[in-house]
Amino acid sequence: MKKKCDVLIIGAGGAGLTAALNAKESGADVLVLTKEYPTRSQTCMAQGGINAALGNAGEDSIEAHIANTLKSAHGQADEEAITFMCSEAPKAIEWLDSIGVCFSRTSESKIAQRALGGASASRACYAQDYTGLKILHTIYDRCLEAEIEIQNEKYLLEILKDDEALVCGAKVLDIRTGDVEIYEANAVILASGGYSRIYDKNSTNSSASTGDGIATAYRAGAELIDMEFVQFHPTGLKSSSILISESARGEGGYVVNSKGERFTNELAPRDILSRAINEEIKKGEEVFLDIRHLGEKLIDEGLPQERKLAKLYENVDPVHQLMPIRPVAHYTMGGIRVDRKSETSLKGLFACGECANHRVHGANRLGGNSLLEIVVFGKEAGVNAALYAKENTKTRTLNLETKSIVDEIKEYENSLDFYAKREYIGELFYKNVGIVRTKSELEEALSEIKSIKENISKYGVSDSSKIYNTNLVEFIEFKNSLDVCEVVVSSALSREVSCGAHYIV
Ligand SMILES: Cc1cc2nc3c(=O)[nH]c(=O)nc-3n(C[C@H](O)[C@H](O)[C@H](O)COP(=O)(O)OP(=O)(O)OC[C@H]3O[C@@H](n4cnc5c(N)ncnc54)[C@H](O)[C@@H]3O)c2cc1C
Repeated sequence: MKKKCDVLIIGAGGAGLTAALNAKESGADVLVLTKEYPTRSQTCMAQGGINAALGNAGEDSIEAHIANTLKSAHGQADEEAITFMCSEAPKAIEWLDSIGVCFSRTSESKIAQRALGGASASRACYAQDYTGLKILHTIYDRCLEAEIEIQNEKYLLEILKDDEALVCGAKVLDIRTGDVEIYEANAVILASGGYSRIYDKNSTNSSASTGDGIATAYRAGAELIDMEFVQFHPTGLKSSSILISESARGEGGYVVNSKGERFTNELAPRDILSRAINEEIKKGEEVFLDIRHLGEKLIDEGLPQERKLAKLYENVDPVHQLMPIRPVAHYTMGGIRVDRKSETSLKGLFACGECANHRVHGANRLGGNSLLEIVVFGKEAGVNAALYAKENTKTRTLNLETKSIVDEIKEYENSLDFYAKREYIGELFYKNVGIVRTKSELEEALSEIKSIKENISKYGVSDSSKIYNTNLVEFIEFKNSLDVCEVVVSSALSREVSCGAHYIV
């Protein structure tokens, strides 16, 4: 297993693997590290689709895609970056199609497209409701074919800089052996995903979305931006938070209250719809997603995964029954500030995907634009990091601190249970840093987080084994999420006016 390369990529989701393919094609020697397995990355959970103005299901244009994205962003996005992303979208789909992604087709064999919230046209290309899974598996296949080395169960601990403060590698925990290892690289790309799991069980996200890369970059001095913008998805299943995709509403599903009344526009952007549902729940109503009228054939052909998820996690069959829902944390617009070349404020450190903020979503992301972003900017990050690596080949002197966080944690008391605290923070954030926020509730959340951080050495791990210590990994994730939580609340407190997903009363 190599420990030295031109471009080191942390994360093997859609963004990381797209970056890997493009860096390799640009002539770089590439290595990908991931704390889990590529096929378990959150990208596999994406269901509804990926946006591109192809016009296969009625009239559409790149201009309309740009306008919809800008509107949904509430003035917090970079118009140039959005224009670039939306203009590149048809090429991105063409590329995915060419490498073998099995998109659903129309009767004329064109790529099928469906409506998602906030879009003026049916713009989301899809593969039933398994879009992310099909995309990820295909890109992963292409990485294997290109002989890109992917090392699994390697956990990023620290970003390393040389004596000139240029990023030159990473300190990593090998989860299998328990060893802390050094990886050297001319350029590093972070593609480590978002941070919605700070809301713990009140989130649609995979348990891995703890904001590790963002916290690690922040500690290394990288700038973060818009961290208060957390998107709540209107249709999480009530008891499990498992997502019922926007595609269910795109196909014509209704949102109804206990009386069976529709009370909102089902295809409004997510911030607006989540608030409308939240209001209804506060009135004492239960809220449901109703797709019964779509019929079994359409549901089984277009939404097979939604039916399976509802049966499995809520014990209801949406062909015959209503699905109880509530809004839950789903996507984090905030992240590591990057420029148009996907380079962060640290020289030699690049970022793409949900951990990065290319300012294309602003205060509220449109459904279907995240898969698009990971492909468009994954490519940019890969190409630019490869170019940077080629121009920065001199031998570096690493600034290695002797102690790693793993050694430090061994000295913690472990008299308090961090799992209980993780759950507590999830509930606290859902209530105080959620869909509707008040200054005093935000202040309460900040003071709680600060107090937990001050007492961090009272927590710790009970498992002292070296090999496969998942207790240790989960504790490091907990520590990372505390850093992220603090920035999220501080940013929320400093934005005094409501804007998109940040709604303050
Ligand atoms: C249920 C669901 C449905 C969705 N549906 C859609 C949709 O239909 N359309 C759309 O556009 N978007 C959708 N999204 C959003 C979209 O899927 C994500 O934003 C996107 O896939 C993120 O990709 P990524 O590559 O940035 O991160 P991820 O896919 O989350 O990958 C992150 C990678 O980083 C690795 N990693 C993290 N921390 C570390 C560490 N410390 N050390 C080493 N490796 C690390 C992980 O192991 C993983 O490999 C959905 C999201 C969810 C949760």
